[in-house]
Amino acid sequence: MKVALHSIEAILVDLPTIRPHVLAMATMHRQTIVLVRIRTDDGIEGIGEGTTIGGLSYCEESAEGIKLAIDTYIAPLLATCDVSRVAETMGAIGRHVVGNHIAKCAVETALLDAAGKRLGVPVSTLIGGGRVRNSMPVAWTLASGDTARDIEEAEAMIAARRHNIFKLKIGKRDVRADVAHVAAIKRAIGDRGSVRVDVNQGWDETQADRGIALLADAGCDLVEQPVAKERLAAMARLSARHSIPLMADEALHGPRSAFRIAADVGARVFALKIAQSGGLLPAREVASIADAAGIGLYGGTMLEAGIGTAASAQLFATLPHLAWGTELFGPLLLTEEILAEPLAYADFALRVPEGPGLGVAIDADKLAHFRRDRTAPTLHMVGGHA
Ligand SMILES: [Mg+2]
Repeated sequence: MKVALHSIEAILVDLPTIRPHVLAMATMHRQTIVLVRIRTDDGIEGIGEGTTIGGLSYCEESAEGIKLAIDTYIAPLLATCDVSRVAETMGAIGRHVVGNHIAKCAVETALLDAAGKRLGVPVSTLIGGGRVRNSMPVAWTLASGDTARDIEEAEAMIAARRHNIFKLKIGKRDVRADVAHVAAIKRAIGDRGSVRVDVNQGWDETQADRGIALLADAGCDLVEQPVAKERLAAMARLSARHSIPLMADEALHGPRSAFRIAADVGARVFALKIAQSGGLLPAREVASIADAAGIGLYGGTMLEAGIGTAASAQLFATLPHLAWGTELFGPLLLTEEILAEPLAYADFALRVPEGPGLGVAIDADKLAHFRRDRTAPTLHMVGGHA
């Protein structure tokens, strides 16, 4: 029987971060998530999240743009679909909305959450034939911008058994200063943890050649997106010249880009992100391409809060290979928990929620307090009346 949409909301929620998060292209003091809540005419509610990093400095979608794409263009399409048929619904949206992968991911997540609740199964059962793991390693990003503070933060994380994989955000200062920062942290941590870097496209090929060679000497395990996302040929040359594995992140935008990078041997590891891929279903295709090409997988984040993080975990739990672990620490960077029950982090890992759908629920009071439109909330009902 056809299941119709009853209503959809796309809500901007502004959440403060525990400290400034310094990236090559922006410094974040807060994170804005787009929370999507759908209700279907059989009485089910599904939730999803669309989140990006640093306003418009990371990619073409902003939180405000994600909300606009959903309210103005995707909501009317949903009203014509059988929303219990998630792949068919997302196909219909894809025919009318190009790009906008984060908006599509937020909507697809809400549909999958509703579908899982309808059938009484977790999203991992719906999309991947069930789990191969119940928990997964979680890296922490050291991005205070200060070496001593980062070392202190890393030591505290190791002592608390929360993280022993550390990703350092570099690419803002000159190559030598950045590498000295990485080397100091690796010296302090030694064999007690893995140190990796994310350059966020901050280098040209010459800087990358120098930087990657120095990083290898410093004991760094992985270099993420050293050059601009369009520079696929440079990525392939750098990958061939250096033994330290390079990871593609910003260059990945779903299965077609994954195939292209795999065919060109432009990376040895993929940062798999549901948002950048356009949803959990296309992200799973990216993972299959990586597996077929012998490319390692790392479960990436757009610094989502609990809903997007739970959605990512549902997918990553189904992947046959996840050699590089994940960076699903988004909720831990925020001072406020948007979930009624927080995700469980312990023993250097995140536990995948067990319940139907995503297995998480929103804290209604927190949402009411942090939503940007708290003075005049908006709800789009099918048929146009609110
Ligand atoms: Mg990255």
